[in-house]
Amino acid sequence: MKRWPAMTAGGGRRVTRNDYGAVARIRQASFILTPMPFEFRTIIEPFRIKSVEPIRFSSPDEREQALRRTGYNLFGLRSEDVLIDLLTDSGTGAMSAEQWAGMMRGDESYAGSRSFFRFERAVRDLTGFRHVIPTHQGRAAERILFGEAVRQGGVVPNNTHFDTTRANVEHDGATALDLVIAEGLQPSFDHPFKGNMDVGRLDETLAAERDRVPLVMVTVTNNSGGGQPVSMENLRAVRAVCDRYDVPLFLDACRFAENAWFIKQREPGFDARSPEEIAREMFSLADGATFSAKKDGLANIGGFLAMNDDDLAARCRNNLILTEGFPTYGGLAGYDLEAIAVGLREVLDEDYLRYRIRSVEYLWEKVAAAGVPCVSPPGGHAVYVDAKTLLPQIPPSQYPAHALAIELFRAGGIRTVEIGSVMFGRVHDDGTEDPAAMELVRLAIPRRVYTQSHIDYVAEVIASIVPRAAELRGYAITSQSKYLRHFTAQFEQL
Ligand SMILES: *Cc1c(COP(=O)(O)O)cnc(C)c1O
Repeated sequence: MKRWPAMTAGGGRRVTRNDYGAVARIRQASFILTPMPFEFRTIIEPFRIKSVEPIRFSSPDEREQALRRTGYNLFGLRSEDVLIDLLTDSGTGAMSAEQWAGMMRGDESYAGSRSFFRFERAVRDLTGFRHVIPTHQGRAAERILFGEAVRQGGVVPNNTHFDTTRANVEHDGATALDLVIAEGLQPSFDHPFKGNMDVGRLDETLAAERDRVPLVMVTVTNNSGGGQPVSMENLRAVRAVCDRYDVPLFLDACRFAENAWFIKQREPGFDARSPEEIAREMFSLADGATFSAKKDGLANIGGFLAMNDDDLAARCRNNLILTEGFPTYGGLAGYDLEAIAVGLREVLDEDYLRYRIRSVEYLWEKVAAAGVPCVSPPGGHAVYVDAKTLLPQIPPSQYPAHALAIELFRAGGIRTVEIGSVMFGRVHDDGTEDPAAMELVRLAIPRRVYTQSHIDYVAEVIASIVPRAAELRGYAITSQSKYLRHFTAQFEQL
């Protein structure tokens, strides 16, 4: 196993030039990040394909029309307009034969169904949390948790809030505070755990405004910060700070298995431990979690809210009944609960995780080799292209990452998502805007769906854009909504 120097893990101290050199040297020395179990390097999907779904090839004309029809918003496309869909890895994965078999066992009883108890046992075995509340997806868990725990004027620290998490915190009149380590905001800076929380700043925040902080959250892996992992050392340090101020710690655990794999690979002392043991230890450091089963649940829908606090759980269950359903189904069918129970086991399989993480690295290697600046090292579920560096002629106010995402669709029918100022720009009441910290295009890889040749095609399309990157122009927003504007905003080309 490769050893990374312990740089800022836990301490949140700033990195010096010498640190940077050490990391760069280590990466050059052992650049193949994921060791394959054989002497050969080819990625092997650890499954055979039993059922296939055709994808449709479109002409450049059809794609141009589709763009105009949607106001240049890729969320407005029909899936049949898309050749390779890397919009999200959420709910887009392929289920296994075991999951489909489990779905046939689904017990659709309104209350107390066998499927709920199988689901509850799977979540409890993994997380150790006393209360397990099913929800139809992750954001429902967030809405219920923040609805019950957060008050007007509150502050919720996180490494980086995911977009729905931020929106739910702000909807309740609280402030969503991002405290990721400084390295996490520098796209090209190599660090093994760029998702780590800046523990020093967390401590300062709690020292100054403990009374306004109802809970601390850590997102594993840090989706909006590039799918970057959080180390166990950092989680322990965050736990210690939370203990000192007596604040509960929740994990936004959507990609807990990918995070566990990175800990196994990169953190000293974990190489002999199984992803399952590592995941259990991660959860043991928290008081609760929100989870979207559409990610590391390997399911197409579902999620949960889990916690140890009896009072809070009782209030959350009542809230759940208002909009999601009775606490033994929470807006899901019995068969969904079965699919998640099986998925939570399959996602911790080492062969699966090795293939998963290696596939993302493979795309990252090809894109980086084409001279496209990417967030480095690659994330667990996605490659993030740094559009600010690739398209310096487009200022953040003209949404460079949006321009690149549109161009990927125009050139090759590839749908991706902007994670930049369209998604995270702060719009003030007078209409002025603060740009986001980074302008990224995310290529999210659905689980168990695309093969290596699909990925080769994607890399080829991206490489074809590089020589004409300087000709790309920005966009202006012509209409938008107050919350989560990226889903529906309309644009015009400048
Ligand atoms: C997807 C995601 C969510 C929200 O889950 P949904 O199932 O899409 O509602 C929250 N946090 C993170 C980190 C996510 O990746």
